[in-house]
Amino acid sequence: MALFEKVLIANRGEIALRIQRACREMGIKTVVVHSTADTEAKYVKLADESVCIGPPPSRESYLNIPAIIAAAEVSDAEAIHPGYGFLSENADFAERVEQSGFQFIGPTADVIRMMGDKVAAKKAMLAAGVPCVPGSEGALPDDPKEIVRTARAVGYPVIIKAAGGGGGRGMRVVHTEAALINAVNTTRAEAAAAFNNPEVYMEKFLENPRHIEIQILADHHGNVVHLGERDCSMQRRHQKVIEEAPAPGLSLKLRDKIGQRCADACKKIGYRGAGTIEFLFENDEFYFIEMNTRVQVEHPVTELVTGIDIVQEQIRVASGQRLRFRQKDVVLKGHAIECRVNAEDPFKFTPSPGRIQTWHMPGGPGIRVDSHAYANYVVPPHYDSMIGKIISYGDTREQAIARMGIALSEVVVEGISTNVPLHRRIMRDTHFEEGGTSIHYLEHMLASDA
Ligand code: ADP
Repeated sequence: MALFEKVLIANRGEIALRIQRACREMGIKTVVVHSTADTEAKYVKLADESVCIGPPPSRESYLNIPAIIAAAEVSDAEAIHPGYGFLSENADFAERVEQSGFQFIGPTADVIRMMGDKVAAKKAMLAAGVPCVPGSEGALPDDPKEIVRTARAVGYPVIIKAAGGGGGRGMRVVHTEAALINAVNTTRAEAAAAFNNPEVYMEKFLENPRHIEIQILADHHGNVVHLGERDCSMQRRHQKVIEEAPAPGLSLKLRDKIGQRCADACKKIGYRGAGTIEFLFENDEFYFIEMNTRVQVEHPVTELVTGIDIVQEQIRVASGQRLRFRQKDVVLKGHAIECRVNAEDPFKFTPSPGRIQTWHMPGGPGIRVDSHAYANYVVPPHYDSMIGKIISYGDTREQAIARMGIALSEVVVEGISTNVPLHRRIMRDTHFEEGGTSIHYLEHMLASDA
């Protein structure tokens, strides 16, 4: 089956450039849509075509579905790559794209919709044999007595989560029965206001888990493989800061088992494209928390240890091609670490948009930099603060850390603040060096540094 001739990229920043590079390597022409805040960005000029779709606020540009569809129409694109964030997990968008005669590079709207509803997602995953956090069976009922009974059965502490939640919002931990009903009501009200869906559910609150996720690739012909796992436990306020592959200390046996479960589940639900199944991992047990139906920020670490270009595979399978490899062909080699570079104060975390005066990025063996930034580039204040990613690769985890340390020491960015000093601090941290720290470790480290 022939590849697309032209792909429209409905995103911005480093991922817009990343998708463009993948297309170019495959001989596919690219159309980049952009807001007026991004008109001068180099990756916009590098694209074969660009279409301005609106003013800086995302609502009026990168989230503007009619404008994006119109851009695909005028540019004769055949497919739309949504990247991550923005409309990438918007089922209505996927539906509109396909109804307008374009291929959406991602799963079907139905699957996106199901995974966007956490209660439905959990139900589907349980039914498909994926281990989940113990908790309420589906959404919580209105009856307070029943809620109390459920919490007793699950055991405190519990966490109340919004079915429509995302981005770490719409969650509340409850330690005692006295606080339960109030917490449920507050979370419900917040969920109704923020996600237009008052449904909430309950899970056992895991006290000290790691975040481990499985990368999936599936074609439109029922072939599914997993590309192993990533450990994304280094987080602040539920936002990932550093990711790595493979997860330190995870046995081959556990990886194969959970990976196969995920691949089988994706086959059962008719998944297609790239996807990530996220787990909390505690005492050698995996607990499903959610599935992301798109490419993830941290996909490069998996690319480096598998040698598979995930973005190219997304495009290939969307065009109808079969996966070119089977599970046995996927071999993990070496270790990769990614540091997300944000335009922000490294220790106070306040955003730092503005003009970059000096921009020196590292190089050398085992270093990859995915960034759309350059000297004189103006980081707009309207969007996410991530301006790039530094990824290191080594034969061993020690080598990947050493190379990342050297890479970070070479970075010079002037004109704005970045979190590079925080990354340097983490690379020297003895607990990080040991590996296997929990999702709370970074916040504890920051608190004890202060
Ligand atoms: P979101 O879609 O908002 O990212 P998730 O369900 O993925 O929501 O949860 C985000 C984060 O919240 C997790 O990475 C973890 O830190 C915490 N969390 C969620 N569920 C639990 C749980 N049952 N126990 C402990 N922490 C949890």
